[in-house]
Amino acid sequence: MLKGKTALVTGSTSGIGLGIAVELAKQGAHIVMNGFGDVEGPKAQIAAHGVKVEYHGADMSKPAEIEDMMKFAAGKFGGVDVLVNNAGIQHVSPIEDFPTERWDAIIAINLSSAFHTTRLAIPFMRQKNWGRIINIASAHGLVASASKSAYVAAKHGIVGLTKVAALELATTGVTANAICPGWVLTPLVQKQIDDRAAREKISVEQATKELLQEKEPSLQFTTPEQLGGMAVFFCSPAADNVRGQAWASDGGWTAQ
Ligand code: NAD
Repeated sequence: MLKGKTALVTGSTSGIGLGIAVELAKQGAHIVMNGFGDVEGPKAQIAAHGVKVEYHGADMSKPAEIEDMMKFAAGKFGGVDVLVNNAGIQHVSPIEDFPTERWDAIIAINLSSAFHTTRLAIPFMRQKNWGRIINIASAHGLVASASKSAYVAAKHGIVGLTKVAALELATTGVTANAICPGWVLTPLVQKQIDDRAAREKISVEQATKELLQEKEPSLQFTTPEQLGGMAVFFCSPAADNVRGQAWASDGGWTAQ
């Protein structure tokens, strides 16, 4: 379905971003990867599906590096047809103790980076009259939890940005939508489980159970592959008129 198209997925060296990049590659899209840590392993996982894979290590908190990454993608593939804004970090702390430097980093990486990639991707998408902007928000883009002020603010913000982009592009073939996952067992969540186990002096297994019980009626994690499937749907012709939505895969978290 995506043969000849290019998808750029921020934060695709790990977790959800990698899962989405693999599912888009299965549909034939060439992939521009981004993110920190091991690159070669994830790159091989994506390339196994017979597509071209390029990597750019832009730090999503730095607008100049984001601009460089978008120029790099244009140089390699002519432009970006599918933009997945996924890179994200977390910090858990009550507002009065929240380190201001962590607040700034979360807003920059989880929210402002999507503004920069989107503003730079739109001209190419308009020119082709086809494009998909897929923002990885969160259940925390729809509801809040204590001690996650920056994350919840950024995720509510990205849902808002998604709606504005969808409206500005409504008469074109470019759509913008958000995916709102509940718990997905990635390094970002494993850290929260490990912290809970240490804090409550319980096993990691017990902490995992409690984390799910607290929020998700299904008591199940969503997988990166399932979120990749959702992104593939947003890229399909069936979703041509799905615009400005924030779709959850959260085991019933936000239905309560
Ligand atoms: P992860 O830690 O496995 O992956 C995060 C990715 O972002 C990595 O590739 C990392 O290198 C990259 N990254 C972090 N800071 C970066 C920066 N400054 N510049 C470039 N890349 C950077 O986490 P994940 O769980 O896969 O999270 C991916 C996205 O999904 C995030 O936006 C997160 O908020 C969102 N999300 C996760 C869950 C969950 O339960 N795991 C739930 C809802 C939403």
